[in-house]
Amino acid sequence: MKMRIQVVFERDDEPPIVDEIACLECETLTPDTLGLTLAEAKTVLTQLQDTLVKAQVAAFVTQQQICSHCGTPRRCKGRHQIVVRSLFGRLTLSSPRLYTCACQAADTRRSSSPLAELLSERTTPELRYLEAKWAALLP
Ligand SMILES: [Zn+2]
Repeated sequence: MKMRIQVVFERDDEPPIVDEIACLECETLTPDTLGLTLAEAKTVLTQLQDTLVKAQVAAFVTQQQICSHCGTPRRCKGRHQIVVRSLFGRLTLSSPRLYTCACQAADTRRSSSPLAELLSERTTPELRYLEAKWAALLP
């Protein structure tokens, strides 16, 4: 028997998007095959994290590509990769550099990387918290 694990993204006015993140083989029940193995759990968690992060980054970048003042699409100057450390490992994200909209004052910056600015610490707060907690336990 196979077990498919899917993620369903539901948005307000769009049809749901289904992403399959894993397909597990369920073998005959023995003490060794009861539940998830460590490798299966890591695979499911990695795929889930990857799918969630891609969807979050895509939604944020799509939102940032529109000027918040006039609604005009901002042009992309280029892309670079940023690395963010999370509790579940390193995340490599593609961060676009967007030109500032022409409706903004000329003395402002000409381009910016909204994703790189949002994730400026390159570490998630949960990981920082646990690192500080573990460090405090060391003699
Ligand atoms: Zn604008």
